[in-house]
Amino acid sequence: MKIHEYQAKAILERFGVRVQRGLVAETPEQAAAAYDQLGTPLAVVKAQIHAGGRGKAGGVKLVRSREEAREAAARMLGSRLVTPQTRPEGQPVRLVFVADGLDIAREFYVGVALDRRLGVPVMMVSAEGGVEIEEIAAHRPQAILRQPLDADRGLADYQARRAGFFLGLDGEGVRKAVPFLAGLARAYLDLDCTVAEINPLVLTSQGELVALDAKMAFDGNALDRHPEVHALRDIHEEDAREVEASRHGLNYIALDGNIGCMVNGAGLAMATMDTIQLHGGSPANFLDVGGGASEEQITQAFRILVGDPQVKAILVNIFGGIMRCDVIARGILAAARSVEMRLPLVVRLEGTNVEEGRRLLAQSGLPITPADSLDAAARSVCQSVLAAA
Ligand code: GDP
Ligand code: MG
Repeated sequence: MKIHEYQAKAILERFGVRVQRGLVAETPEQAAAAYDQLGTPLAVVKAQIHAGGRGKAGGVKLVRSREEAREAAARMLGSRLVTPQTRPEGQPVRLVFVADGLDIAREFYVGVALDRRLGVPVMMVSAEGGVEIEEIAAHRPQAILRQPLDADRGLADYQARRAGFFLGLDGEGVRKAVPFLAGLARAYLDLDCTVAEINPLVLTSQGELVALDAKMAFDGNALDRHPEVHALRDIHEEDAREVEASRHGLNYIALDGNIGCMVNGAGLAMATMDTIQLHGGSPANFLDVGGGASEEQITQAFRILVGDPQVKAILVNIFGGIMRCDVIARGILAAARSVEMRLPLVVRLEGTNVEEGRRLLAQSGLPITPADSLDAAARSVCQSVLAAA
């Protein structure tokens, strides 16, 4: 789960990480008032969306008067911001953050993420701030210092000092870097983050280290331990289909293709997507309805697939273990009748009560193509997409 920059900054501040003062505004008038309240000649107005790359896309504007603050906010609010990190249609801007403008002497990168090879979180720092870390890692890996974090102790003081020296800070700067970097590491560990990144971390001309940007994402499986973090969820930023699916307890992830998939079990869902690709097709989603889905859940899952304008055909692949094939069939029929189904539908059922399930589908009078194997089902659904094109 991602959160907004202003929310991440509020969290990091509690961990001793220095951030800019700032206020959130929903309207241009509020942004102008925020400028007055900050009482600083230079402020910055920043679009709040769950994606970076805003600077080059017009989502970050330095302002020097309340009028400029109002204008910048008016331009951003209600618009869709398209950055390299958003979907092509962009993300709607509903909030702006108005913060103290910083006088930047140097920009650095610092981030914590899980190193899957080492199996521990690592803190990465680089003197090349404001640039994507992936880009630096690809071209100049030696420009990044990577240090593993101890799960209990977090970042040790000597590691923080080493990072400070690596960034070329002077003695005073290194002294300030110690609590700053340790606080970032602590926040990552205590809150079950998947990413905690400050890009750029700036050294101001006054010699202060300040988080100019902040990005935090959290492990969805750990959110029950952090209700205060869970409360920050902003569903406006999430894929509407994914939000709808999660309301019904379905594991759904939207993809780019045009074949809607409904499968039980994550492994079978992955295999189904692979088989579709093998036959030259492209899945529109990952959808695992789980081991014991109800007829109602199947109906909702089906609605989500049919409601996606991208989807040109649907493949249902269910192995009935705990799940009974007749329940699946009833869910499909209930949904197909209620949504005026016009798409080719290929169904492969196997397992418990399979005869009953197949009989229900066959007798429904709906144009459903049955398939006996995953391979045949995938071939059939790919052909029907080609035929429709
Ligand atoms: P991102 O593009 O979404 O990552 O947004 P950032 O918060 O990282 O801002 C992008 C860029 O805008 C930064 O790298 C800075 O160069 C510039 N910027 C943002 N805030 C300030 C500020 O307060 N003062 C100055 N001088 N530049 C800023
Ligand atoms: Mg940034």
